[in-house]
Amino acid sequence: VGKTVLVIGAHPDDEVLGCGGTIARHAEEGDSVHVMILSEGLTARDIQRDRARQKKGLRLIGKQAAAAAALLGVTSIKLSAFPDNRMDGVDLLDVVKVIEKEAARIRPDVVYTHHWGDLNVDHRIVSDAVVTAFRPGMGPANAVYAFEIPSSSEWSFGTKGAPFMPNHFVDITRTVDKKLQAMGLYTSELREYPHPRSQEAVRALAMRRGSQAGLDMAEGFQLVRSMV
Ligand SMILES: [Zn+2]
Repeated sequence: VGKTVLVIGAHPDDEVLGCGGTIARHAEEGDSVHVMILSEGLTARDIQRDRARQKKGLRLIGKQAAAAAALLGVTSIKLSAFPDNRMDGVDLLDVVKVIEKEAARIRPDVVYTHHWGDLNVDHRIVSDAVVTAFRPGMGPANAVYAFEIPSSSEWSFGTKGAPFMPNHFVDITRTVDKKLQAMGLYTSELREYPHPRSQEAVRALAMRRGSQAGLDMAEGFQLVRSMV
């Protein structure tokens, strides 16, 4: 029987940037991968949160998320509607409860989520909430890993605590192209090189993480905790 994997990201595209190659590998190896995105995306681009104003964009990003998930072989994707880049205005417990509910339904063996030292506030809150929801004896997961998000993990420069330091590497040599393709579907999130969220920079990061681990291409993770 394959493993059950749960990926928990703050924004649509974090799942691809953080672990798209690893998702594709899990799927190819017969594991079922579920994705949960907690914030709606986009509404931070206006001065005040206005879902009506971003209605078209939100519908589009939902479609892009579904297309990216299908490309990577994801079993299910669930988009929640916490406010984009304003999750610091939400009670942490409310975020924890939403994750706990999904965790009880999916019962994942492995969880991937954000790193606690990211510059982006939503990333930090999701990381906190996931570690809380999957505290030992509560969540079913055997292992929780933190991924890095280009343009957030490296842009905190250590000001949010210990910076991302990968100690778990997944060989994505065969799936890196799928990751880049999935990333290309999120047209509103893509940037031109040298932005870290450009195709060139994401490929370069895969090479860098690969070379750290004696692999062609890899995604790096930091183990939060595991038990066997
Ligand atoms: Zn994000």
